Amino acid sequence: RAKELGRNHFRYYTQSLSERTDKRLKTDAALREALSLNQFSLHFQPIIDLTSCTVSHAEALIRWHHPEMGMVSPEYFIPLAEENGLIHEIGLWVLREACRCHKEWKSQGLDLQKISINVSSIQFQKANLADAFKTILEEEAMEAHRIDIEITERYLMDQTERNIHYLNTLKKAGHTITVDDFGVGYSSMSYMKRLPLDIIKIDRSFISDIPEDRNDIQISQAIISLSHNLGYKATAEGVEIVEQFNFLRETLCDYAQGYYFSPPVPAHHFITCVEQLNARLTNEIAPSEIDK
Ligand code: C2E
Ligand code: MG
Ligand code: MG
Ligand code: MG
Repeated sequence: RAKELGRNHFRYYTQSLSERTDKRLKTDAALREALSLNQFSLHFQPIIDLTSCTVSHAEALIRWHHPEMGMVSPEYFIPLAEENGLIHEIGLWVLREACRCHKEWKSQGLDLQKISINVSSIQFQKANLADAFKTILEEEAMEAHRIDIEITERYLMDQTERNIHYLNTLKKAGHTITVDDFGVGYSSMSYMKRLPLDIIKIDRSFISDIPEDRNDIQISQAIISLSHNLGYKATAEGVEIVEQFNFLRETLCDYAQGYYFSPPVPAHHFITCVEQLNARLTNEIAPSEIDK
């Protein structure tokens, strides 16, 4: 009986494995096409300066619109692109597109301080990442300080001299560096003082249960003061309710982003989004400020 069960299990396993491989191969091919067929786009989520309560910059988030699969989540295809190596090309496309959007908005009257782009740790495996970035910035006539680079802790954990050197090169070129999703996974305090960082972005899992969760309140406060003591700024992501917004202002967090302010929006919608959001925040903040 056990044998029979085992055999069935085996058959089931191989079937699902080949199905998975099949799907994987199809998605790989589709991903390769996506760049040439222009199926990627960037959406932008505004990031709020909590001192002035106005939009200060934005995070670029890639979207893939496939004609049959519909919208494919980056949570799904970025890991695939990291495995098959396409992330290198996609990453350069993201930088170029971010530069173009920034310039387009500028021509329409919005001079955004900077755009944050997500850079995968795999992209750093190519020795010439900094050169490739520099070339694109030159071609697009964009200053490096207009592009903030978000990296995850996974990259930082692997603290080889090589990685530190690459980050220093990008930093020297003029980019700012943000650690994304801080506090989950591979958190290590030791890298924080060794690396040329600018902003620590608190993972949204610490924000989502504020104000109910006392522990999350403590952890967020600790990350914010740690950031400040090391000379970095702090951003909170995943801010969804007004209580979280108020908490972060009281805790002197520097920046915030999340659905409470705005979801990521298509580039052509971004200026309107910023204008409406700034107006909304002025109305929300002004009366309570007068009360005090
Ligand atoms: P991330 O960099 O941590 O981006 C934040 C994610 O949280 C985004 O998901 C955003 O839409 C979502 N988000 C924003 N505000 C809220 C909120 O208030 N509540 C909740 N629940 N979620 C919120 P998205 O766009 O699906 O991206 C997922 C992840 O995919 C990103 O996480 C990032 O790791 C990766 N990714 C996205 N674009 C790129 C890219 O251009 N390059 C690379 N390498 N990775 C990217
Ligand atoms: Mg990010
Ligand atoms: Mg994040
Ligand atoms: Mg994330």
